[in-house]
Amino acid sequence: MDFTWTEEQETIRRRAARFAAEYVAPYAAKWDREPSFPESAVRACARTGLTGLTVPKELGGPGASTVSYALAITEIAAACSSTAVTIAVTSMVAETIARLGTPEQQERYLPPLLSGEFAAGSFALSEPGAGSDAGALRTRAEYRDPDVVIHGEKSWISSGPYAGVFVVWARTGEGEGTRGMSAFLVEPSDPGFSVGRKEEKMGLRASPTVSLNFEDCHIPKERLLGETGRGFRIAMQALDGGRIGVASQALGIARAAIDVVERYYQVHSHRLGAFEKGRLAQMKAEFVAARLMILRAAWRKDNGVPFSAKAAMAKAFSTETANKICQEAVNLLGEDGCTDDYPVERLFRDCRVTTIYEGTSEIQRIVISRSFLRDAT
Ligand SMILES: Cc1cc2nc3c(=O)[nH]c(=O)nc-3n(C[C@H](O)[C@H](O)[C@H](O)COP(=O)(O)OP(=O)(O)OC[C@H]3O[C@@H](n4cnc5c(N)ncnc54)[C@H](O)[C@@H]3O)c2cc1C
Repeated sequence: MDFTWTEEQETIRRRAARFAAEYVAPYAAKWDREPSFPESAVRACARTGLTGLTVPKELGGPGASTVSYALAITEIAAACSSTAVTIAVTSMVAETIARLGTPEQQERYLPPLLSGEFAAGSFALSEPGAGSDAGALRTRAEYRDPDVVIHGEKSWISSGPYAGVFVVWARTGEGEGTRGMSAFLVEPSDPGFSVGRKEEKMGLRASPTVSLNFEDCHIPKERLLGETGRGFRIAMQALDGGRIGVASQALGIARAAIDVVERYYQVHSHRLGAFEKGRLAQMKAEFVAARLMILRAAWRKDNGVPFSAKAAMAKAFSTETANKICQEAVNLLGEDGCTDDYPVERLFRDCRVTTIYEGTSEIQRIVISRSFLRDAT
Protein backbone atom coordinates (compact mmCIF):
# COMPACT_ATOMS: atom_id res chain seq x y z
CA MET A 1 0.00 0.00 0.00
CA ASP A 2 1.31 3.43 -0.97
CA PHE A 3 -0.12 6.61 0.55
CA THR A 4 1.80 9.05 -1.64
CA TRP A 5 0.21 10.73 -4.67
CA THR A 6 1.28 9.62 -8.12
CA GLU A 7 2.65 12.28 -10.45
CA GLU A 8 -0.72 12.47 -12.24
CA GLN A 9 -2.65 12.85 -8.98
CA GLU A 10 -0.34 15.57 -7.66
CA THR A 11 -0.35 17.46 -10.97
CA ILE A 12 -4.15 17.48 -11.14
CA ARG A 13 -4.54 18.35 -7.46
CA ARG A 14 -2.21 21.34 -7.86
CA ARG A 15 -3.89 22.43 -11.08
CA ALA A 16 -7.30 22.32 -9.35
CA ALA A 17 -5.93 24.25 -6.34
CA ARG A 18 -4.49 26.94 -8.65
CA PHE A 19 -7.74 27.13 -10.63
CA ALA A 20 -9.77 27.44 -7.40
CA ALA A 21 -7.49 30.16 -5.99
CA GLU A 22 -7.61 32.24 -9.18
CA TYR A 23 -11.11 31.79 -10.58
CA VAL A 24 -13.28 30.69 -7.68
CA ALA A 25 -12.27 31.58 -4.10
CA PRO A 26 -12.25 35.37 -4.53
CA TYR A 27 -15.85 35.37 -5.84
CA ALA A 28 -17.58 32.57 -3.91
CA ALA A 29 -19.16 34.79 -1.23
CA LYS A 30 -20.47 37.22 -3.88
CA TRP A 31 -21.97 34.42 -6.00
CA ASP A 32 -23.71 33.07 -2.90
CA ARG A 33 -25.07 36.48 -1.86
CA GLU A 34 -26.43 37.59 -5.23
CA PRO A 35 -26.95 34.61 -6.05
CA SER A 36 -25.30 34.17 -9.45
CA PHE A 37 -24.13 31.17 -11.44
CA PRO A 38 -20.31 30.94 -11.74
CA GLU A 39 -20.52 30.69 -15.52
CA SER A 40 -17.10 32.09 -16.39
CA ALA A 41 -15.45 29.89 -13.74
CA VAL A 42 -17.03 26.64 -14.92
CA ARG A 43 -16.11 27.43 -18.53
CA ALA A 44 -12.55 28.24 -17.40
CA CYS A 45 -12.47 24.94 -15.49
CA ALA A 46 -13.16 23.03 -18.69
CA ARG A 47 -10.51 25.03 -20.58
CA THR A 48 -8.05 24.07 -17.83
CA GLY A 49 -8.82 20.40 -18.53
CA LEU A 50 -10.51 19.75 -15.17
CA THR A 51 -14.03 18.95 -16.43
CA GLY A 52 -14.78 15.36 -17.39
CA LEU A 53 -11.42 14.28 -15.97
CA THR A 54 -12.15 10.57 -16.29
CA VAL A 55 -13.26 10.69 -19.94
CA PRO A 56 -10.74 8.48 -21.80
CA LYS A 57 -8.04 10.06 -23.94
CA GLU A 58 -9.24 8.23 -27.06
CA LEU A 59 -12.53 10.16 -26.75
CA GLY A 60 -10.72 13.48 -26.35
CA GLY A 61 -10.82 13.53 -22.54
CA PRO A 62 -7.98 13.91 -20.03
CA GLY A 63 -8.10 10.15 -19.25
CA ALA A 64 -7.33 10.79 -15.59
CA SER A 65 -8.11 8.49 -12.67
CA THR A 66 -11.10 8.74 -10.33
CA VAL A 67 -8.63 9.36 -7.49
CA SER A 68 -7.41 12.47 -9.34
CA TYR A 69 -11.02 13.50 -9.96
CA ALA A 70 -11.79 13.20 -6.22
CA LEU A 71 -8.74 15.33 -5.38
CA ALA A 72 -9.77 18.00 -7.91
CA ILE A 73 -13.38 18.22 -6.68
CA THR A 74 -12.14 18.51 -3.07
CA GLU A 75 -9.90 21.46 -4.00
CA ILE A 76 -12.64 23.26 -5.92
CA ALA A 77 -15.31 22.60 -3.25
CA ALA A 78 -13.02 24.06 -0.59
CA ALA A 79 -13.33 27.33 -2.53
CA CYS A 80 -16.98 27.11 -3.66
CA SER A 81 -19.33 24.20 -3.34
CA SER A 82 -21.72 25.48 -6.01
CA THR A 83 -18.91 25.56 -8.56
CA ALA A 84 -17.79 22.09 -7.50
CA VAL A 85 -21.23 20.51 -7.88
CA THR A 86 -21.67 22.06 -11.32
CA ILE A 87 -18.36 20.59 -12.47
CA ALA A 88 -19.06 17.25 -10.78
CA VAL A 89 -22.48 16.81 -12.43
CA THR A 90 -21.13 17.93 -15.83
CA SER A 91 -18.33 15.40 -15.41
CA MET A 92 -20.83 12.66 -14.50
CA VAL A 93 -22.83 13.46 -17.67
CA ALA A 94 -19.66 13.41 -19.80
CA GLU A 95 -18.51 10.12 -18.25
CA THR A 96 -21.92 8.52 -18.89
CA ILE A 97 -21.91 9.62 -22.54
CA ALA A 98 -18.31 8.38 -22.89
CA ARG A 99 -19.31 5.02 -21.41
CA LEU A 100 -22.58 4.41 -23.24
CA GLY A 101 -22.95 6.90 -26.08
CA THR A 102 -22.86 5.97 -29.73
CA PRO A 103 -19.89 7.38 -31.68
CA GLU A 104 -22.26 10.08 -33.07
CA GLN A 105 -23.43 11.03 -29.56
CA GLN A 106 -19.87 11.14 -28.28
CA GLU A 107 -18.84 13.34 -31.20
CA ARG A 108 -21.78 15.70 -30.71
CA TYR A 109 -21.66 16.15 -26.92
CA LEU A 110 -18.22 15.37 -25.54
CA PRO A 111 -16.24 18.19 -27.22
CA PRO A 112 -18.59 20.99 -26.02
CA LEU A 113 -18.82 19.48 -22.51
CA LEU A 114 -15.04 19.11 -22.22
CA SER A 115 -14.10 22.45 -23.80
CA GLY A 116 -16.51 24.64 -21.84
CA GLU A 117 -18.55 25.52 -24.94
CA PHE A 118 -21.41 24.09 -22.83
CA ALA A 119 -21.32 25.74 -19.40
CA ALA A 120 -22.79 22.55 -17.92
CA GLY A 121 -24.46 19.21 -18.44
CA SER A 122 -27.48 18.15 -16.38
CA PHE A 123 -28.65 14.86 -14.93
CA ALA A 124 -32.46 14.78 -14.92
CA LEU A 125 -33.74 11.82 -12.91
CA SER A 126 -35.77 13.24 -9.98
CA GLU A 127 -39.45 14.14 -10.27
CA PRO A 128 -42.00 15.61 -7.87
CA GLY A 129 -43.06 12.08 -6.86
CA ALA A 130 -39.78 10.27 -7.48
CA GLY A 131 -36.71 11.21 -5.43
CA SER A 132 -35.27 8.35 -3.38
CA ASP A 133 -37.56 5.98 -5.26
CA ALA A 134 -36.41 6.60 -8.83
CA GLY A 135 -38.52 3.64 -9.97
CA ALA A 136 -41.64 5.75 -9.30
CA LEU A 137 -40.91 8.21 -12.09
CA ARG A 138 -43.83 9.09 -14.38
CA THR A 139 -42.25 10.97 -17.29
CA ARG A 140 -43.06 8.95 -20.41
CA ALA A 141 -41.26 8.56 -23.71
CA GLU A 142 -43.12 7.19 -26.71
CA TYR A 143 -41.59 6.11 -30.03
CA ARG A 144 -43.26 7.95 -32.95
CA ASP A 145 -40.95 7.24 -35.84
CA PRO A 146 -38.58 9.00 -36.55
CA ASP A 147 -38.89 10.69 -33.17
CA VAL A 148 -39.25 9.96 -29.50
CA VAL A 149 -41.84 12.12 -27.75
CA ILE A 150 -41.27 12.90 -24.07
CA HIS A 151 -44.01 14.09 -21.74
CA GLY A 152 -43.60 14.87 -18.04
CA GLU A 153 -41.84 16.97 -15.43
CA LYS A 154 -38.47 16.78 -13.70
CA SER A 155 -37.70 18.57 -10.45
CA TRP A 156 -34.59 19.74 -8.58
CA ILE A 157 -32.32 19.64 -11.60
CA SER A 158 -28.92 21.26 -11.03
CA SER A 159 -27.59 23.71 -13.67
CA GLY A 160 -30.84 23.38 -15.68
CA PRO A 161 -30.84 26.94 -17.11
CA TYR A 162 -27.22 26.60 -18.31
CA ALA A 163 -26.95 23.01 -19.53
CA GLY A 164 -26.12 22.28 -23.16
CA VAL A 165 -27.32 18.69 -22.80
CA PHE A 166 -29.56 16.82 -20.34
CA VAL A 167 -29.60 13.12 -19.62
CA VAL A 168 -33.32 12.54 -19.06
CA TRP A 169 -34.90 9.38 -17.70
CA ALA A 170 -38.37 8.38 -18.89
CA ARG A 171 -40.65 5.41 -18.81
CA THR A 172 -40.61 3.51 -22.11
CA GLY A 173 -43.06 0.83 -21.10
CA GLU A 174 -41.06 -2.39 -20.97
CA GLY A 175 -42.19 -2.93 -17.38
CA GLU A 176 -43.21 -1.36 -14.07
CA GLY A 177 -41.09 0.21 -11.34
CA THR A 178 -37.37 0.11 -11.98
CA ARG A 179 -37.95 -1.84 -15.19
CA GLY A 180 -39.07 -0.10 -18.35
CA MET A 181 -37.05 3.10 -17.96
CA SER A 182 -34.72 4.48 -20.60
CA ALA A 183 -32.26 7.39 -20.77
CA PHE A 184 -32.32 10.04 -23.50
CA LEU A 185 -30.17 13.02 -24.46
CA VAL A 186 -32.20 16.21 -24.65
CA GLU A 187 -31.02 19.60 -25.88
CA PRO A 188 -32.38 22.93 -24.59
CA SER A 189 -33.62 23.90 -28.09
CA ASP A 190 -35.68 20.72 -28.54
CA PRO A 191 -39.34 21.58 -29.26
CA GLY A 192 -41.56 21.05 -26.21
CA PHE A 193 -38.74 21.43 -23.69
CA SER A 194 -38.67 24.29 -21.20
CA VAL A 195 -36.99 25.22 -17.95
CA GLY A 196 -39.47 25.86 -15.13
CA ARG A 197 -39.40 27.15 -11.58
CA LYS A 198 -36.12 27.94 -9.83
CA GLU A 199 -35.81 26.87 -6.20
CA GLU A 200 -34.75 29.34 -3.48
CA LYS A 201 -32.34 27.26 -1.42
CA MET A 202 -30.70 27.66 2.01
CA GLY A 203 -27.30 26.80 0.55
CA LEU A 204 -25.57 26.05 -2.72
CA ARG A 205 -27.24 29.22 -3.89
CA ALA A 206 -24.93 29.77 -6.87
CA SER A 207 -25.97 26.40 -8.33
CA PRO A 208 -29.39 26.96 -9.92
CA THR A 209 -31.84 24.13 -9.22
CA VAL A 210 -34.93 24.08 -11.45
CA SER A 211 -37.81 22.02 -12.70
CA LEU A 212 -37.91 20.94 -16.36
CA ASN A 213 -41.06 20.61 -18.43
CA PHE A 214 -41.51 18.21 -21.34
CA GLU A 215 -44.72 18.88 -23.26
CA ASP A 216 -44.71 16.55 -26.25
CA CYS A 217 -41.01 17.19 -26.49
CA HIS A 218 -39.78 15.75 -29.81
CA ILE A 219 -36.24 14.40 -30.05
CA PRO A 220 -34.71 12.17 -32.75
CA LYS A 221 -34.84 8.50 -31.75
CA GLU A 222 -31.03 8.37 -32.12
CA ARG A 223 -30.86 10.27 -28.80
CA LEU A 224 -31.55 7.10 -26.81
CA LEU A 225 -28.55 6.66 -24.49
CA GLY A 226 -27.58 3.03 -23.98
CA GLU A 227 -30.13 0.27 -24.38
CA THR A 228 -33.87 0.84 -24.19
CA GLY A 229 -35.37 -0.44 -20.92
CA ARG A 230 -31.97 -0.29 -19.15
CA GLY A 231 -32.37 3.25 -17.81
CA PHE A 232 -32.50 2.36 -14.12
CA ARG A 233 -29.21 0.51 -14.30
CA ILE A 234 -27.65 3.39 -16.25
CA ALA A 235 -28.77 5.85 -13.56
CA MET A 236 -27.52 3.68 -10.69
CA GLN A 237 -24.11 3.15 -12.33
CA ALA A 238 -23.74 6.89 -12.93
CA LEU A 239 -24.76 7.61 -9.32
CA ASP A 240 -22.22 5.10 -7.95
CA GLY A 241 -19.46 7.23 -9.48
CA GLY A 242 -21.29 10.48 -8.74
CA ARG A 243 -21.32 9.68 -5.03
CA ILE A 244 -17.53 9.79 -4.99
CA GLY A 245 -17.90 13.32 -6.36
CA VAL A 246 -20.45 14.39 -3.70
CA ALA A 247 -18.31 12.85 -0.94
CA SER A 248 -15.31 14.80 -2.27
CA GLN A 249 -17.38 17.95 -2.41
CA ALA A 250 -18.34 17.53 1.27
CA LEU A 251 -14.71 16.84 2.13
CA GLY A 252 -13.64 20.09 0.47
CA ILE A 253 -16.25 22.02 2.46
CA ALA A 254 -15.03 20.34 5.67
CA ARG A 255 -11.42 21.22 4.91
CA ALA A 256 -12.37 24.85 4.28
CA ALA A 257 -14.22 24.94 7.63
CA ILE A 258 -11.19 23.52 9.49
CA ASP A 259 -8.93 26.05 7.73
CA VAL A 260 -11.17 28.93 8.84
CA VAL A 261 -11.09 27.73 12.46
CA GLU A 262 -7.29 27.39 12.43
CA ARG A 263 -6.82 30.86 10.94
CA TYR A 264 -9.30 32.25 13.47
CA TYR A 265 -7.25 30.91 16.38
CA GLN A 266 -4.07 32.35 14.90
CA VAL A 267 -5.67 35.79 15.31
CA HIS A 268 -7.70 35.05 18.48
CA SER A 269 -5.11 32.92 20.25
CA HIS A 270 -6.55 33.82 23.68
CA ARG A 271 -9.63 31.79 22.73
CA LEU A 272 -7.66 28.61 22.01
CA GLY A 273 -7.70 26.47 25.18
CA ALA A 274 -7.49 22.72 25.79
CA PHE A 275 -11.20 22.31 25.02
CA GLU A 276 -10.90 24.00 21.61
CA LYS A 277 -7.71 22.06 20.79
CA GLY A 278 -9.50 18.78 21.52
CA ARG A 279 -12.46 19.72 19.30
CA LEU A 280 -10.15 20.74 16.47
CA ALA A 281 -8.17 17.49 16.81
CA GLN A 282 -11.37 15.46 16.55
CA MET A 283 -12.47 17.40 13.46
CA LYS A 284 -9.14 16.66 11.80
CA ALA A 285 -9.22 12.95 12.65
CA GLU A 286 -12.72 12.59 11.22
CA PHE A 287 -11.70 14.56 8.13
CA VAL A 288 -8.83 12.13 7.47
CA ALA A 289 -11.11 9.09 7.98
CA ALA A 290 -13.53 10.51 5.40
CA ARG A 291 -10.72 11.18 2.96
CA LEU A 292 -9.45 7.61 3.22
CA MET A 293 -12.91 6.20 2.55
CA ILE A 294 -13.30 8.37 -0.55
CA LEU A 295 -9.88 7.43 -1.90
CA ARG A 296 -10.57 3.73 -1.33
CA ALA A 297 -13.84 3.92 -3.29
CA ALA A 298 -12.11 5.90 -6.08
CA TRP A 299 -9.19 3.46 -6.20
CA ARG A 300 -11.59 0.52 -6.53
CA LYS A 301 -13.43 2.23 -9.39
CA ASP A 302 -10.12 2.89 -11.15
CA ASN A 303 -9.04 -0.73 -10.72
CA GLY A 304 -12.25 -2.38 -11.88
CA VAL A 305 -13.09 -3.69 -8.38
CA PRO A 306 -16.80 -3.44 -7.33
CA PHE A 307 -17.11 -0.08 -5.61
CA SER A 308 -20.83 0.65 -5.25
CA ALA A 309 -21.06 -0.06 -1.50
CA LYS A 310 -17.71 1.63 -0.84
CA ALA A 311 -18.88 4.76 -2.68
CA ALA A 312 -22.11 4.69 -0.64
CA MET A 313 -20.11 4.37 2.62
CA ALA A 314 -17.81 7.21 1.57
CA LYS A 315 -20.80 9.38 0.63
CA ALA A 316 -22.80 8.78 3.81
CA PHE A 317 -19.78 9.09 6.13
CA SER A 318 -18.11 12.07 4.45
CA THR A 319 -21.25 14.14 4.05
CA GLU A 320 -22.41 13.52 7.62
CA THR A 321 -18.90 14.14 8.97
CA ALA A 322 -18.62 17.36 6.95
CA ASN A 323 -21.94 18.55 8.37
CA LYS A 324 -20.67 17.85 11.89
CA ILE A 325 -17.40 19.65 11.16
CA CYS A 326 -19.21 22.71 9.78
CA GLN A 327 -21.48 22.79 12.83
CA GLU A 328 -18.44 22.56 15.12
CA ALA A 329 -16.73 25.34 13.17
CA VAL A 330 -19.73 27.65 13.67
CA ASN A 331 -19.83 26.70 17.37
CA LEU A 332 -16.11 27.28 17.90
CA LEU A 333 -16.24 30.73 16.35
CA GLY A 334 -19.18 31.59 18.62
CA GLU A 335 -21.03 34.75 17.60
CA ASP A 336 -18.49 35.32 14.78
CA GLY A 337 -19.53 31.98 13.28
CA CYS A 338 -23.06 33.23 12.72
CA THR A 339 -22.09 36.25 10.62
CA ASP A 340 -20.94 36.46 7.04
CA ASP A 341 -17.68 38.03 8.25
CA TYR A 342 -16.42 34.43 8.25
CA PRO A 343 -17.15 31.82 5.57
CA VAL A 344 -18.19 29.09 8.03
CA GLU A 345 -21.76 30.41 7.87
CA ARG A 346 -21.85 29.76 4.08
CA LEU A 347 -20.01 26.45 4.41
CA PHE A 348 -22.55 25.29 7.01
CA ARG A 349 -25.45 26.12 4.64
CA ASP A 350 -23.73 24.67 1.56
CA CYS A 351 -22.87 21.43 3.30
CA ARG A 352 -26.41 20.58 4.33
CA VAL A 353 -27.61 19.32 0.96
CA THR A 354 -24.71 16.90 0.47
CA THR A 355 -26.46 14.31 2.66
CA ILE A 356 -29.54 14.58 0.43
CA TYR A 357 -28.75 14.63 -3.28
CA GLU A 358 -27.47 11.66 -5.29
CA GLY A 359 -29.16 9.53 -2.64
CA THR A 360 -29.85 10.49 0.98
CA SER A 361 -27.85 8.92 3.81
CA GLU A 362 -30.70 6.46 4.42
CA ILE A 363 -30.50 5.35 0.78
CA GLN A 364 -26.69 4.96 1.06
CA ARG A 365 -27.22 2.71 4.10
CA ILE A 366 -29.63 0.57 2.06
CA VAL A 367 -26.99 0.24 -0.70
CA ILE A 368 -24.34 -0.66 1.91
CA SER A 369 -26.53 -3.22 3.67
CA ARG A 370 -27.27 -4.99 0.38
CA SER A 371 -23.56 -5.73 0.03
CA PHE A 372 -23.16 -7.35 3.48
CA LEU A 373 -23.46 -10.91 2.27
CA ARG A 374 -21.18 -10.33 -0.72
CA ASP A 375 -18.33 -8.41 0.90
CA ALA A 376 -18.01 -7.60 4.59
CA THR A 377 -14.92 -5.36 4.24
C1 LIG B 1 -29.89 21.14 -4.18
C2 LIG B 1 -30.38 19.89 -4.84
C3 LIG B 1 -29.91 19.56 -6.10
C4 LIG B 1 -30.38 18.42 -6.76
N1 LIG B 1 -29.94 18.15 -8.02
C5 LIG B 1 -30.48 17.08 -8.69
C6 LIG B 1 -30.11 16.83 -10.05
O1 LIG B 1 -29.26 17.53 -10.65
N2 LIG B 1 -30.71 15.78 -10.70
C7 LIG B 1 -31.64 14.99 -10.10
O2 LIG B 1 -32.14 14.07 -10.75
N3 LIG B 1 -32.01 15.22 -8.80
C8 LIG B 1 -31.46 16.24 -8.09
N4 LIG B 1 -31.84 16.48 -6.80
C9 LIG B 1 -32.87 15.65 -6.17
C10 LIG B 1 -32.29 14.72 -5.13
O3 LIG B 1 -31.56 13.69 -5.71
C11 LIG B 1 -33.45 14.23 -4.25
O4 LIG B 1 -33.87 15.34 -3.46
C12 LIG B 1 -33.06 13.07 -3.34
O5 LIG B 1 -32.87 11.91 -4.11
C13 LIG B 1 -34.11 12.80 -2.27
O6 LIG B 1 -35.37 12.69 -2.83
P1 LIG B 1 -36.62 13.49 -2.21
O7 LIG B 1 -36.18 14.92 -2.03
O8 LIG B 1 -37.79 13.26 -3.09
O9 LIG B 1 -36.84 12.89 -0.80
P2 LIG B 1 -37.69 11.58 -0.44
O10 LIG B 1 -37.31 10.47 -1.34
O11 LIG B 1 -39.13 11.96 -0.37
O12 LIG B 1 -37.16 11.27 1.02
C14 LIG B 1 -37.58 12.01 2.17
C15 LIG B 1 -36.93 11.36 3.39
O13 LIG B 1 -37.34 9.99 3.50
C16 LIG B 1 -36.20 9.14 3.52
N5 LIG B 1 -36.47 7.90 2.78
C17 LIG B 1 -37.01 7.79 1.54
N6 LIG B 1 -37.09 6.49 1.18
C18 LIG B 1 -36.58 5.76 2.22
C19 LIG B 1 -36.39 4.36 2.45
N7 LIG B 1 -36.72 3.44 1.54
N8 LIG B 1 -35.84 3.97 3.64
C20 LIG B 1 -35.48 4.91 4.58
N9 LIG B 1 -35.64 6.24 4.40
C21 LIG B 1 -36.19 6.66 3.24
C22 LIG B 1 -35.10 9.92 2.84
O14 LIG B 1 -33.83 9.48 3.27
C23 LIG B 1 -35.40 11.33 3.29
O15 LIG B 1 -34.86 11.56 4.56
C24 LIG B 1 -31.34 17.60 -6.12
C25 LIG B 1 -31.79 17.92 -4.82
C26 LIG B 1 -31.33 19.04 -4.19
C27 LIG B 1 -31.84 19.36 -2.80
